[in-house]
Amino acid sequence: MDFELTQEQIMMQKMARDFAEREIVPAARDNDRNERFPSDIVKKMAPLGFLGGPIPEKYGGPGFDYVSYAVVTEEIGRACSSVRTVLSVHVSLAGLTILRWGNEEQKTGYLPDMCAGKKLGCFGLTEPDAGSDPASMSTTAVRDGSDWVLNGAKMWISNAGVADVAVVFAQTDRSLAHRGIAAFIVDGDSPGYSTRDIHNKLGLRSSNTGEIIMEDCRVPDRNRLGEVGEGFKIAMSALDHGRFSVAAGCVGIAQACVDASVKYARERKQFGREIGTFQLVQELISEMVVDTEAARLLVYRAGHLKNKGVRCTREVCIAKYFASEAANRAAYNAIQVHGGYGYSDEYPVERYFRDARVATLYEGTSQIQKLIIGSYALGLKAFT
Ligand code: FAD
Repeated sequence: MDFELTQEQIMMQKMARDFAEREIVPAARDNDRNERFPSDIVKKMAPLGFLGGPIPEKYGGPGFDYVSYAVVTEEIGRACSSVRTVLSVHVSLAGLTILRWGNEEQKTGYLPDMCAGKKLGCFGLTEPDAGSDPASMSTTAVRDGSDWVLNGAKMWISNAGVADVAVVFAQTDRSLAHRGIAAFIVDGDSPGYSTRDIHNKLGLRSSNTGEIIMEDCRVPDRNRLGEVGEGFKIAMSALDHGRFSVAAGCVGIAQACVDASVKYARERKQFGREIGTFQLVQELISEMVVDTEAARLLVYRAGHLKNKGVRCTREVCIAKYFASEAANRAAYNAIQVHGGYGYSDEYPVERYFRDARVATLYEGTSQIQKLIIGSYALGLKAFT
Protein backbone atom coordinates (compact mmCIF):
# COMPACT_ATOMS: atom_id res chain seq x y z
CA MET A 1 0.00 0.00 0.00
CA ASP A 2 1.43 3.35 -1.01
CA PHE A 3 0.09 6.43 0.77
CA GLU A 4 2.29 8.87 -1.14
CA LEU A 5 1.11 10.95 -4.07
CA THR A 6 3.27 10.64 -7.18
CA GLN A 7 5.39 13.59 -8.32
CA GLU A 8 2.85 14.26 -11.07
CA GLN A 9 -0.02 14.25 -8.60
CA ILE A 10 1.85 16.64 -6.30
CA MET A 11 2.41 18.92 -9.28
CA MET A 12 -1.29 18.86 -10.13
CA GLN A 13 -2.15 19.58 -6.52
CA LYS A 14 0.12 22.61 -6.55
CA MET A 15 -1.25 23.83 -9.87
CA ALA A 16 -4.82 23.52 -8.58
CA ARG A 17 -3.96 25.19 -5.25
CA ASP A 18 -2.23 28.10 -7.02
CA PHE A 19 -5.14 28.56 -9.41
CA ALA A 20 -7.69 28.37 -6.60
CA GLU A 21 -5.82 30.86 -4.40
CA ARG A 22 -5.31 33.26 -7.29
CA GLU A 23 -8.62 33.06 -9.14
CA ILE A 24 -11.29 31.52 -6.91
CA VAL A 25 -10.67 32.57 -3.30
CA PRO A 26 -10.58 36.35 -3.93
CA ALA A 27 -13.97 36.24 -5.71
CA ALA A 28 -15.74 33.67 -3.55
CA ARG A 29 -17.37 35.95 -0.98
CA ASP A 30 -18.68 38.47 -3.50
CA ASN A 31 -19.96 35.79 -5.86
CA ASP A 32 -21.69 34.14 -2.91
CA ARG A 33 -23.25 37.41 -1.71
CA ASN A 34 -24.51 38.27 -5.18
CA GLU A 35 -25.44 34.77 -6.37
CA ARG A 36 -23.12 35.46 -9.30
CA PHE A 37 -22.28 32.44 -11.44
CA PRO A 38 -18.48 32.30 -11.87
CA SER A 39 -18.41 31.86 -15.67
CA ASP A 40 -15.07 33.70 -15.93
CA ILE A 41 -13.46 31.26 -13.49
CA VAL A 42 -15.00 28.24 -15.19
CA LYS A 43 -13.59 29.35 -18.55
CA LYS A 44 -10.11 29.78 -17.06
CA MET A 45 -10.17 26.17 -15.84
CA ALA A 46 -10.32 24.78 -19.39
CA PRO A 47 -6.66 25.32 -20.38
CA LEU A 48 -5.60 23.62 -17.14
CA GLY A 49 -7.56 20.53 -18.09
CA PHE A 50 -9.93 20.82 -15.14
CA LEU A 51 -13.03 20.76 -17.35
CA GLY A 52 -11.96 17.42 -18.79
CA GLY A 53 -10.56 15.61 -15.73
CA PRO A 54 -10.25 11.90 -16.52
CA ILE A 55 -11.54 12.29 -20.10
CA PRO A 56 -8.78 10.98 -22.40
CA GLU A 57 -6.81 13.11 -24.84
CA LYS A 58 -8.55 11.38 -27.74
CA TYR A 59 -11.71 13.26 -26.78
CA GLY A 60 -10.06 16.53 -25.85
CA GLY A 61 -9.46 15.85 -22.15
CA PRO A 62 -6.19 15.71 -20.20
CA GLY A 63 -6.73 12.09 -19.10
CA PHE A 64 -6.13 12.66 -15.38
CA ASP A 65 -5.92 9.51 -13.30
CA TYR A 66 -8.69 9.42 -10.68
CA VAL A 67 -6.47 10.24 -7.71
CA SER A 68 -5.19 13.32 -9.57
CA TYR A 69 -8.79 14.22 -10.36
CA ALA A 70 -9.63 13.91 -6.65
CA VAL A 71 -6.65 16.03 -5.65
CA VAL A 72 -7.65 18.80 -8.08
CA THR A 73 -11.31 18.59 -7.00
CA GLU A 74 -10.27 18.83 -3.35
CA GLU A 75 -8.30 22.00 -4.03
CA ILE A 76 -11.19 23.61 -5.90
CA GLY A 77 -13.56 22.54 -3.11
CA ARG A 78 -11.19 24.01 -0.52
CA ALA A 79 -11.58 27.37 -2.24
CA CYS A 80 -15.27 27.39 -3.16
CA SER A 81 -17.88 24.64 -3.22
CA SER A 82 -19.99 26.47 -5.79
CA VAL A 83 -17.16 26.30 -8.33
CA ARG A 84 -16.47 22.71 -7.31
CA THR A 85 -20.10 21.78 -7.89
CA VAL A 86 -20.02 23.26 -11.39
CA LEU A 87 -16.96 21.16 -12.09
CA SER A 88 -18.26 17.92 -10.55
CA VAL A 89 -21.51 18.07 -12.48
CA HIS A 90 -19.90 19.07 -15.76
CA VAL A 91 -17.07 16.50 -15.63
CA SER A 92 -18.33 13.60 -13.53
CA LEU A 93 -22.06 13.52 -14.15
CA ALA A 94 -22.22 14.79 -17.74
CA GLY A 95 -18.79 14.27 -19.35
CA LEU A 96 -17.84 10.89 -17.88
CA THR A 97 -21.34 9.57 -18.54
CA ILE A 98 -21.07 10.45 -22.22
CA LEU A 99 -17.57 8.90 -22.22
CA ARG A 100 -18.80 5.65 -20.66
CA TRP A 101 -22.09 5.23 -22.49
CA GLY A 102 -21.84 7.33 -25.64
CA ASN A 103 -21.14 5.98 -29.11
CA GLU A 104 -18.19 7.34 -31.10
CA GLU A 105 -20.28 10.02 -32.80
CA GLN A 106 -21.62 11.24 -29.44
CA LYS A 107 -18.19 11.23 -27.81
CA THR A 108 -16.48 13.12 -30.62
CA GLY A 109 -19.51 15.39 -31.00
CA TYR A 110 -19.70 16.56 -27.38
CA LEU A 111 -16.60 15.81 -25.32
CA PRO A 112 -13.97 18.00 -27.03
CA ASP A 113 -16.21 21.08 -26.72
CA MET A 114 -17.01 20.22 -23.11
CA CYS A 115 -13.35 19.81 -22.20
CA ALA A 116 -12.53 23.11 -23.92
CA GLY A 117 -15.22 24.96 -21.98
CA LYS A 118 -17.21 25.72 -25.13
CA LYS A 119 -20.12 23.64 -23.83
CA LEU A 120 -21.12 23.26 -20.21
CA GLY A 121 -22.93 20.13 -19.07
CA CYS A 122 -25.64 19.30 -16.56
CA PHE A 123 -27.37 16.14 -15.38
CA GLY A 124 -31.13 15.88 -15.02
CA LEU A 125 -32.30 12.96 -12.92
CA THR A 126 -34.22 14.41 -9.95
CA GLU A 127 -37.83 15.48 -10.41
CA PRO A 128 -40.23 17.40 -8.19
CA ASP A 129 -41.77 14.11 -6.99
CA ALA A 130 -38.84 11.74 -7.56
CA GLY A 131 -35.66 12.40 -5.57
CA SER A 132 -34.28 9.47 -3.58
CA ASP A 133 -36.44 7.19 -5.72
CA PRO A 134 -35.54 8.26 -9.26
CA ALA A 135 -37.05 5.10 -10.75
CA SER A 136 -40.46 6.63 -10.00
CA MET A 137 -39.78 9.50 -12.42
CA SER A 138 -42.70 10.81 -14.42
CA THR A 139 -40.85 12.42 -17.34
CA THR A 140 -41.79 10.47 -20.45
CA ALA A 141 -40.08 9.81 -23.76
CA VAL A 142 -42.23 8.72 -26.68
CA ARG A 143 -40.73 7.62 -29.99
CA ASP A 144 -41.90 9.63 -33.01
CA GLY A 145 -40.17 8.65 -36.26
CA SER A 146 -36.46 9.34 -35.88
CA ASP A 147 -37.07 11.54 -32.80
CA TRP A 148 -38.09 11.12 -29.20
CA VAL A 149 -40.60 13.52 -27.65
CA LEU A 150 -39.84 14.27 -24.01
CA ASN A 151 -42.34 15.71 -21.53
CA GLY A 152 -41.71 16.43 -17.86
CA ALA A 153 -39.69 18.48 -15.41
CA LYS A 154 -36.36 17.97 -13.68
CA MET A 155 -35.84 19.69 -10.35
CA TRP A 156 -32.77 20.97 -8.45
CA ILE A 157 -30.48 20.62 -11.43
CA SER A 158 -27.01 22.10 -10.99
CA ASN A 159 -25.89 24.18 -13.98
CA ALA A 160 -29.39 23.93 -15.52
CA GLY A 161 -29.62 27.60 -16.47
CA VAL A 162 -26.09 27.85 -17.84
CA ALA A 163 -25.62 24.46 -19.48
CA ASP A 164 -25.44 23.90 -23.23
CA VAL A 165 -25.98 20.18 -22.93
CA ALA A 166 -27.98 18.06 -20.50
CA VAL A 167 -27.88 14.34 -19.81
CA VAL A 168 -31.53 13.67 -19.08
CA PHE A 169 -33.50 10.58 -18.07
CA ALA A 170 -37.04 9.71 -19.10
CA GLN A 171 -39.46 6.80 -18.84
CA THR A 172 -40.29 5.06 -22.12
CA ASP A 173 -42.61 2.41 -20.68
CA ARG A 174 -44.08 2.85 -17.23
CA SER A 175 -45.04 -0.84 -16.98
CA LEU A 176 -41.33 -1.72 -17.02
CA ALA A 177 -40.58 0.57 -14.03
CA HIS A 178 -36.81 1.27 -13.82
CA ARG A 179 -36.18 -1.06 -16.77
CA GLY A 180 -38.13 1.32 -19.02
CA ILE A 181 -35.91 4.35 -18.43
CA ALA A 182 -33.75 5.77 -21.23
CA ALA A 183 -31.01 8.41 -21.16
CA PHE A 184 -30.65 11.23 -23.67
CA ILE A 185 -28.17 13.95 -24.50
CA VAL A 186 -30.34 17.02 -24.88
CA ASP A 187 -29.00 20.21 -26.43
CA GLY A 188 -29.95 23.36 -24.55
CA ASP A 189 -31.46 24.87 -27.70
CA SER A 190 -33.73 21.90 -28.44
CA PRO A 191 -37.32 22.88 -29.23
CA GLY A 192 -39.51 22.53 -26.14
CA TYR A 193 -36.60 22.72 -23.70
CA SER A 194 -36.45 25.54 -21.13
CA THR A 195 -35.05 26.21 -17.66
CA ARG A 196 -35.98 28.23 -14.60
CA ASP A 197 -33.42 29.33 -12.01
CA ILE A 198 -33.88 28.58 -8.31
CA HIS A 199 -32.76 31.47 -6.08
CA ASN A 200 -32.09 32.07 -2.37
CA LYS A 201 -30.46 28.73 -1.62
CA LEU A 202 -28.89 28.21 1.80
CA GLY A 203 -25.48 27.60 0.23
CA LEU A 204 -23.79 27.10 -3.14
CA ARG A 205 -25.18 30.50 -3.85
CA SER A 206 -22.90 31.25 -6.78
CA SER A 207 -23.56 27.91 -8.44
CA ASN A 208 -26.55 27.78 -10.74
CA THR A 209 -29.39 25.50 -9.70
CA GLY A 210 -32.63 25.26 -11.59
CA GLU A 211 -35.48 23.37 -13.08
CA ILE A 212 -35.49 21.85 -16.56
CA ILE A 213 -38.87 21.92 -18.26
CA MET A 214 -39.49 19.75 -21.28
CA GLU A 215 -42.70 20.35 -23.22
CA ASP A 216 -42.87 18.21 -26.35
CA CYS A 217 -39.10 18.52 -26.40
CA ARG A 218 -37.77 16.85 -29.56
CA VAL A 219 -34.57 14.87 -29.28
CA PRO A 220 -33.20 12.89 -32.23
CA ASP A 221 -32.71 9.19 -31.63
CA ARG A 222 -29.00 9.65 -32.42
CA ASN A 223 -28.84 11.51 -29.08
CA ARG A 224 -30.09 8.53 -27.10
CA LEU A 225 -27.37 7.44 -24.69
CA GLY A 226 -27.09 3.66 -24.43
CA GLU A 227 -30.03 1.37 -25.11
CA VAL A 228 -33.65 2.04 -24.23
CA GLY A 229 -34.06 0.51 -20.77
CA GLU A 230 -30.46 1.15 -19.74
CA GLY A 231 -31.21 4.61 -18.35
CA PHE A 232 -31.35 3.60 -14.70
CA LYS A 233 -28.05 1.73 -14.96
CA ILE A 234 -26.53 4.76 -16.69
CA ALA A 235 -27.78 7.07 -13.93
CA MET A 236 -26.31 4.86 -11.21
CA SER A 237 -22.96 4.61 -12.98
CA ALA A 238 -22.95 8.41 -13.35
CA LEU A 239 -23.56 8.76 -9.62
CA ASP A 240 -20.54 6.53 -8.93
CA HIS A 241 -18.44 9.25 -10.57
CA GLY A 242 -20.44 12.15 -9.19
CA ARG A 243 -20.32 10.97 -5.58
CA PHE A 244 -16.57 10.44 -5.84
CA SER A 245 -16.18 14.04 -6.91
CA VAL A 246 -18.52 15.33 -4.17
CA ALA A 247 -16.50 13.38 -1.60
CA ALA A 248 -13.25 14.91 -2.85
CA GLY A 249 -14.81 18.38 -2.72
CA CYS A 250 -15.91 17.75 0.87
CA VAL A 251 -12.35 16.87 1.85
CA GLY A 252 -11.53 20.32 0.48
CA ILE A 253 -14.19 21.98 2.67
CA ALA A 254 -12.92 20.13 5.74
CA GLN A 255 -9.32 21.10 4.96
CA ALA A 256 -10.37 24.72 4.50
CA CYS A 257 -12.02 24.58 7.94
CA VAL A 258 -8.81 23.23 9.47
CA ASP A 259 -6.67 25.88 7.78
CA ALA A 260 -8.94 28.79 8.73
CA SER A 261 -9.32 27.55 12.31
CA VAL A 262 -5.60 27.00 12.87
CA LYS A 263 -4.84 30.49 11.57
CA TYR A 264 -7.53 32.10 13.70
CA ALA A 265 -6.70 30.13 16.85
CA ARG A 266 -3.05 31.20 16.61
CA GLU A 267 -3.98 34.88 16.25
CA ARG A 268 -7.02 35.39 18.46
CA LYS A 269 -6.21 36.11 22.09
CA GLN A 270 -8.46 35.71 25.13
CA PHE A 271 -7.45 35.53 28.77
CA GLY A 272 -4.11 36.99 27.66
CA ARG A 273 -3.11 34.11 25.40
CA GLU A 274 -3.82 32.63 21.96
CA ILE A 275 -7.06 30.64 22.06
CA GLY A 276 -5.16 27.82 20.29
CA THR A 277 -3.36 27.14 23.56
CA PHE A 278 -6.64 26.12 25.20
CA GLN A 279 -7.11 22.37 25.18
CA LEU A 280 -10.80 22.58 24.31
CA VAL A 281 -9.99 24.63 21.21
CA GLN A 282 -7.29 22.11 20.30
CA GLU A 283 -9.92 19.40 20.66
CA LEU A 284 -12.18 21.15 18.13
CA ILE A 285 -9.30 21.40 15.68
CA SER A 286 -7.98 17.89 16.22
CA GLU A 287 -11.46 16.46 15.54
CA MET A 288 -11.45 18.33 12.22
CA VAL A 289 -7.96 17.09 11.36
CA VAL A 290 -8.85 13.45 12.01
CA ASP A 291 -12.09 13.70 10.01
CA THR A 292 -10.31 15.41 7.12
CA GLU A 293 -7.53 12.86 6.88
CA ALA A 294 -9.83 9.87 7.21
CA ALA A 295 -12.12 11.28 4.50
CA ARG A 296 -9.15 11.93 2.22
CA LEU A 297 -7.92 8.34 2.56
CA LEU A 298 -11.38 7.00 1.70
CA VAL A 299 -11.45 9.20 -1.40
CA TYR A 300 -7.96 8.10 -2.47
CA ARG A 301 -8.93 4.45 -2.00
CA ALA A 302 -11.94 4.89 -4.26
CA GLY A 303 -9.74 6.74 -6.77
CA HIS A 304 -7.20 3.92 -6.67
CA LEU A 305 -9.94 1.37 -7.43
CA LYS A 306 -11.26 3.56 -10.24
CA ASN A 307 -7.76 3.70 -11.71
CA LYS A 308 -7.72 -0.10 -11.74
CA GLY A 309 -11.07 -0.10 -13.53
CA VAL A 310 -12.71 -1.91 -10.63
CA ARG A 311 -16.38 -1.21 -9.92
CA CYS A 312 -16.42 0.50 -6.53
CA THR A 313 -19.94 1.69 -5.77
CA ARG A 314 -19.56 0.56 -2.14
CA GLU A 315 -16.26 2.37 -1.60
CA VAL A 316 -17.54 5.52 -3.32
CA CYS A 317 -20.67 5.55 -1.13
CA ILE A 318 -18.53 5.11 2.00
CA ALA A 319 -16.29 7.99 0.91
CA LYS A 320 -19.24 10.23 -0.01
CA TYR A 321 -21.14 9.51 3.19
CA PHE A 322 -18.14 9.98 5.46
CA ALA A 323 -16.63 13.00 3.70
CA SER A 324 -19.92 14.91 3.44
CA GLU A 325 -20.77 14.36 7.10
CA ALA A 326 -17.16 15.14 8.06
CA ALA A 327 -17.26 18.44 6.14
CA ASN A 328 -20.40 19.40 8.08
CA ARG A 329 -18.81 18.52 11.41
CA ALA A 330 -15.66 20.43 10.46
CA ALA A 331 -17.62 23.52 9.43
CA TYR A 332 -19.59 23.42 12.67
CA ASN A 333 -16.35 23.22 14.68
CA ALA A 334 -14.71 25.93 12.57
CA ILE A 335 -17.46 28.38 13.46
CA GLN A 336 -17.06 27.40 17.11
CA VAL A 337 -13.34 28.19 16.94
CA HIS A 338 -14.10 31.58 15.39
CA GLY A 339 -16.70 32.46 17.99
CA GLY A 340 -18.97 35.38 17.03
CA TYR A 341 -16.68 36.33 14.14
CA GLY A 342 -17.45 32.98 12.53
CA TYR A 343 -21.07 34.00 12.28
CA SER A 344 -20.53 36.70 9.66
CA ASP A 345 -18.95 36.54 6.21
CA GLU A 346 -15.98 38.56 7.40
CA TYR A 347 -14.47 35.08 7.73
CA PRO A 348 -15.11 32.29 5.21
CA VAL A 349 -16.19 29.62 7.69
CA GLU A 350 -19.88 30.58 7.60
CA ARG A 351 -19.81 29.96 3.83
CA TYR A 352 -18.14 26.59 4.38
CA PHE A 353 -20.92 25.78 6.87
CA ARG A 354 -23.70 26.72 4.43
CA ASP A 355 -22.00 25.08 1.45
CA ALA A 356 -21.25 21.82 3.26
CA ARG A 357 -24.91 21.28 4.09
CA VAL A 358 -26.04 20.21 0.63
CA ALA A 359 -23.36 17.54 0.35
CA THR A 360 -25.34 15.19 2.60
CA LEU A 361 -28.34 15.72 0.34
CA TYR A 362 -27.37 15.76 -3.31
CA GLU A 363 -26.23 12.76 -5.32
CA GLY A 364 -28.04 10.61 -2.77
CA THR A 365 -28.71 11.66 0.81
CA SER A 366 -26.67 10.22 3.68
CA GLN A 367 -29.59 7.89 4.39
CA ILE A 368 -29.43 6.55 0.82
CA GLN A 369 -25.64 6.09 1.07
CA LYS A 370 -26.16 4.14 4.31
CA LEU A 371 -28.80 1.94 2.69
CA ILE A 372 -26.40 1.10 -0.14
CA ILE A 373 -23.53 0.43 2.28
CA GLY A 374 -25.86 -1.63 4.47
CA SER A 375 -27.07 -3.63 1.49
CA TYR A 376 -23.49 -4.58 0.64
CA ALA A 377 -22.83 -5.57 4.26
CA LEU A 378 -25.99 -7.64 4.59
CA GLY A 379 -26.39 -8.95 1.08
CA LEU A 380 -29.97 -7.71 1.34
CA LYS A 381 -31.36 -4.89 -0.77
CA ALA A 382 -33.10 -2.04 1.03
CA PHE A 383 -34.84 -1.03 -2.19
CA THR A 384 -35.06 -2.17 -5.81
P1 FAD B 1 -36.44 12.95 -0.71
O1 FAD B 1 -36.08 11.85 -1.62
O2 FAD B 1 -37.85 13.44 -0.72
O3 FAD B 1 -35.93 12.70 0.73
C1 FAD B 1 -36.39 13.41 1.87
C2 FAD B 1 -35.84 12.72 3.12
O4 FAD B 1 -36.33 11.36 3.16
C3 FAD B 1 -34.32 12.62 3.12
O5 FAD B 1 -33.83 12.76 4.44
C4 FAD B 1 -34.06 11.21 2.64
O6 FAD B 1 -32.80 10.69 3.08
C5 FAD B 1 -35.23 10.46 3.27
N1 FAD B 1 -35.53 9.21 2.57
C6 FAD B 1 -36.05 9.06 1.32
N2 FAD B 1 -36.14 7.76 1.03
C7 FAD B 1 -35.67 7.07 2.10
C8 FAD B 1 -35.49 5.69 2.41
N3 FAD B 1 -35.82 4.71 1.54
N4 FAD B 1 -34.98 5.37 3.62
C9 FAD B 1 -34.62 6.34 4.51
N5 FAD B 1 -34.75 7.65 4.27
C10 FAD B 1 -35.27 8.01 3.08
N6 FAD B 1 -30.32 16.27 -8.90
C11 FAD B 1 -29.96 15.99 -10.19
O7 FAD B 1 -30.51 15.10 -10.82
N7 FAD B 1 -28.98 16.72 -10.79
C12 FAD B 1 -28.33 17.73 -10.16
O8 FAD B 1 -27.44 18.37 -10.75
C13 FAD B 1 -28.70 18.06 -8.81
N8 FAD B 1 -28.14 19.11 -8.17
C14 FAD B 1 -28.63 19.51 -6.95
C15 FAD B 1 -28.18 20.70 -6.37
C16 FAD B 1 -28.72 21.14 -5.18
C17 FAD B 1 -28.27 22.43 -4.59
C18 FAD B 1 -29.71 20.35 -4.50
C19 FAD B 1 -30.31 20.80 -3.20
C20 FAD B 1 -30.14 19.17 -5.06
C21 FAD B 1 -29.63 18.74 -6.30
N9 FAD B 1 -30.11 17.59 -6.92
C22 FAD B 1 -29.73 17.28 -8.21
C23 FAD B 1 -31.18 16.82 -6.30
C24 FAD B 1 -30.70 15.88 -5.20
O9 FAD B 1 -29.95 14.83 -5.72
C25 FAD B 1 -31.94 15.44 -4.41
O10 FAD B 1 -32.37 16.55 -3.67
C26 FAD B 1 -31.66 14.26 -3.50
O11 FAD B 1 -31.44 13.09 -4.26
C27 FAD B 1 -32.80 13.99 -2.51
O12 FAD B 1 -34.04 13.97 -3.14
P2 FAD B 1 -35.24 14.87 -2.56
O13 FAD B 1 -34.72 16.23 -2.39
O14 FAD B 1 -36.40 14.67 -3.43
O15 FAD B 1 -35.50 14.28 -1.11
